[in-house]
Amino acid sequence: MIIGRVEITSCQYCGGNDFRYGYQSGDNRLCGAPGFLENQEPIHHLVCAECGAIVFSWITNPRKYSKNIPEKSI
Ligand SMILES: [Zn+2]
Repeated sequence: MIIGRVEITSCQYCGGNDFRYGYQSGDNRLCGAPGFLENQEPIHHLVCAECGAIVFSWITNPRKYSKNIPEKSI
């Protein structure tokens, strides 16, 4: 499975290689990009069908988010 620049060959938890796709949208979008709700990204997930782990999560347009990490978040 290749997602952008990332290649995932097996689940790091159970070793399985049957992957499925799902996404979080609506109120579970990734916030922090400037602008209104439509600028916030849905979060995509690659799920292992054998153990149920979320193996990889990503958004489509990461560069619209800030490089600055708020001090209170760490
Ligand atoms: Zn697994």
